[in-house]
Amino acid sequence: PESLMGLLEAFRRPEIKPVNSLQQIVDCQKVRLGLTEHAIALAYQPKVDLVDGRLIGVEALLRWHDAELGVLPPPDIVRAAESCHLIDELTIGVLACAVHGRAAMVRNGIDTNIALNVSMHNLHNLSIVDRMSELVLDAGDQPSHFTLEVTETHLISDLTSVLEALLRLRLQGFKIAIDDYGTGAATMQFLMQLPSTELKIDRCFVAEATRSEAGRAMLQSAIDLGLQLGQDVIAEGVETPGEARLLQQLGCRFAQGYFYGRPMTLEAFTAWIMQHRLHAAAARTPE
Ligand code: C2E
Ligand code: MG
Ligand code: MG
Ligand code: MG
Repeated sequence: PESLMGLLEAFRRPEIKPVNSLQQIVDCQKVRLGLTEHAIALAYQPKVDLVDGRLIGVEALLRWHDAELGVLPPPDIVRAAESCHLIDELTIGVLACAVHGRAAMVRNGIDTNIALNVSMHNLHNLSIVDRMSELVLDAGDQPSHFTLEVTETHLISDLTSVLEALLRLRLQGFKIAIDDYGTGAATMQFLMQLPSTELKIDRCFVAEATRSEAGRAMLQSAIDLGLQLGQDVIAEGVETPGEARLLQQLGCRFAQGYFYGRPMTLEAFTAWIMQHRLHAAAARTPE
């Protein structure tokens, strides 16, 4: 029989979402095996300054290689890991991979911030906080070279522990970004308490802003709110030059999206940055 402490611990766990038919292809066995057999790979997508084209960082996105099924969508893996209580292991695995990736980039002359996505489930207890900073420090790097992107969609249960975990991570030097801003359920009051430095405006606002006046108004107010709160405001999912122009007109300084670069392997990203630097240098040189 389970001990009382065990029962209490189980009771305190965040609710587990029901498993839908799609994600059943990823079971606990697969996640556990994948974690030990190097299923984690990362794709790096550039974040750029809209004014001078400068690279301001990269987002590392999970690319999970399954032996039978190929590369699986990150949200499926994340949801499976959450329901199997392996989400801390997944996040630590992603961070370890990002730390390696950054070291390789630095060796290639690219000293840039790497952002990774953290699940809200990672923030319901504090045990991950020290593990994360130790991992980075043990590799000879600094937490301030990493940004943790949290999605407000899940900011619902257990606000106090989420806030405490984020504050501690921030104190250790990690930067914090609010991801997919504008699509979640978090109250403004809660968002304003988060120790974030960056607000990432969801791609749906960017797409809608070029189509309707209302969309444009929403994008404008999201940008203004972020700026008023002293955040770096970055637009996600920028796909066209028209979107990039509009964002600049509306006062958004930073962007990420297929228009600038797709998520790439480390090798492809290294090639991309060389090209990018040549273009930027050419653009600066007067005829
Ligand atoms: P996200 O953090 O908002 O990442 C942006 C997603 O939009 C990525 O999808 C990226 O490939 C895609 N994207 C980037 N630019 C464009 C664009 O211009 N147009 C369009 N249509 N899409 C664009 P991806 O890689 O499939 O990841 C989906 C989501 O899965 C991420 O959304 C993030 O919430 C989650 N995720 C990814 N990797 C991880 C991870 O390592 N850990 C956790 N917990 N979640 C992750
Ligand atoms: Mg993200
Ligand atoms: Mg996002
Ligand atoms: Mg997203």
